[in-house]
Amino acid sequence: MSAAQLPLLKNLQDELAALEAQHLLRRRRTVDTACAPLVSAEGKDLLAFCSNDYLGLAAHPALTAALQQGASLYGAGSGASHLINGHSRAHAQLEQRLAEFMAPQIEQARALYFGTGYMANLAVITALAGKEAAVFSEALNHASLIDGARLSRASVQVFPHRDYAALELMLQNCTLEKRVVVTDSVFSMDGNIADLPALLAICERYGAWLMVDDAHGFGVLGEHGRGVLEHFNLRSPNLVYMGTLGKAAGVGGAFVAAHETVIAWLVQKARPYIYTTAAPPALAHALLSSLDIISGAEGSQRRAHLQNLIGLFRSGLELRNWRCMPSDTAIQPVLIGENAAMLAVAASLLEQGIWVGAIRPPTVPPGTARLRATLSAAHSEQQVLQLVQALQRLDAAASPAAEAA
Ligand SMILES: *Cc1c(COP(=O)(O)O)cnc(C)c1O
Repeated sequence: MSAAQLPLLKNLQDELAALEAQHLLRRRRTVDTACAPLVSAEGKDLLAFCSNDYLGLAAHPALTAALQQGASLYGAGSGASHLINGHSRAHAQLEQRLAEFMAPQIEQARALYFGTGYMANLAVITALAGKEAAVFSEALNHASLIDGARLSRASVQVFPHRDYAALELMLQNCTLEKRVVVTDSVFSMDGNIADLPALLAICERYGAWLMVDDAHGFGVLGEHGRGVLEHFNLRSPNLVYMGTLGKAAGVGGAFVAAHETVIAWLVQKARPYIYTTAAPPALAHALLSSLDIISGAEGSQRRAHLQNLIGLFRSGLELRNWRCMPSDTAIQPVLIGENAAMLAVAASLLEQGIWVGAIRPPTVPPGTARLRATLSAAHSEQQVLQLVQALQRLDAAASPAAEAA
């Protein structure tokens, strides 16, 4: 090691120590079992409410079998990027199926499969918005949308959470012709839903693209699981839709669905699509089974059960010191406030064998640390009631004074 490296390491060590002092140090917990309500992690059996496996498909036997079959058919890896020779029949079939599935919501729909939602977001924003464009980004957007806007080098304006009048004013004053409005559908740390009909009307009026990140809606919202566009019954050529396939769809990756011209443009210009190795074809093959389930009777049953659990959680939980956030989705945050207080509650839950996401700044604004319970169709009513009761007991034991200290 050269001497010059030592001060660099010291810098990082100091910064890590500062994070720890602010209760902001994050750690990973290694899980030994498949994604399911009951997991084993670091020697403990836990009832987990923190995955995004909203339909309980991540360990579904049909998907596991399809993944194995995909590996038999196509091997383990794709070997290259899509524009070289990594674009397999499985990718093409999946894109075809996704385009057909989303066709009721998008005119002349085509779909493009990505290795991750993060990449898909970078791809869409950088390809639709360049230096000469304006990006209008909702304040609570996911980090990948923020990073996409930064990477695009467009002029970026952030509009306040669900404040569409403010957005409209920004668009009125915008002199650039290329405009891209970007929003999460279901806000990932709050669980509430963007008013997409209002947003779309504004985007149509001002000639802007509306890019919707439906990471938490695809498969879950809408009668057939087509996500937030089906939920609101929207259809427009201005829409560019991003759905992830590692959450409700239970496998991994993401897709963009949009007018065929948009997809043709992304294939030519989206660097995060072009300059990366295609995801393993077996994943795309497994996702065909996932789409079968989502769009079929089993998907409907799973969505209905999940909706029932959401109602059970919300009607059951009565808090004195903390606050439930106004969410009708599977994301159910409990707002606690200070980092240390929230971490203490998360630790008490873990002692009782319950694992809930502990969300702190910078993921959420300072002073709004929260437990983020996510419900899944794989949970039973009894498991959700167990969570409700545990939260209720801890809330009753917490005092507002202790929280502020
Ligand atoms: C999870 C998530 C992503 C990223 O998707 P990955 O497939 O996990 O990379 C993007 N946007 C939102 C809102 C998400 O929650």
